Amino acid sequence: MDTASSKIQRIEVDGLYWADVFCPFCGQQVISIEDGEFEFAACPHTLFHCVEEGFGFRSSLFDKNMGIEGIDDYDIQVASEHGYDYFTDQCTVPNSLKFVSQDVPPSMDVVCIGFALLD
Ligand SMILES: [Zn+2]
Repeated sequence: MDTASSKIQRIEVDGLYWADVFCPFCGQQVISIEDGEFEFAACPHTLFHCVEEGFGFRSSLFDKNMGIEGIDDYDIQVASEHGYDYFTDQCTVPNSLKFVSQDVPPSMDVVCIGFALLD
């Protein structure tokens, strides 16, 4: 299989904004929501986490794959009409997947979190 050209698997999940999220590979809780407080703790498989405003987390593996090593979160060029969902769809890390949740219009708020099974 030509893994180099295979893109990240996209899985839509309703209501991801306020959901606890666990890594599908190691089971670590990556996002916890308690009393409305958001906490993020990346596990080794976490590739990225982003919301409409930008990236909250990027792994070095993700940066390398996307060619954005050393670039500040704010300097990453994301076409506004496509947003971070589209941008992170371009990720080609092998055995990667992402959960994405998009609010209904007019908000269209997006949250994406990506994981990859490591060698
Ligand atoms: Zn993990």
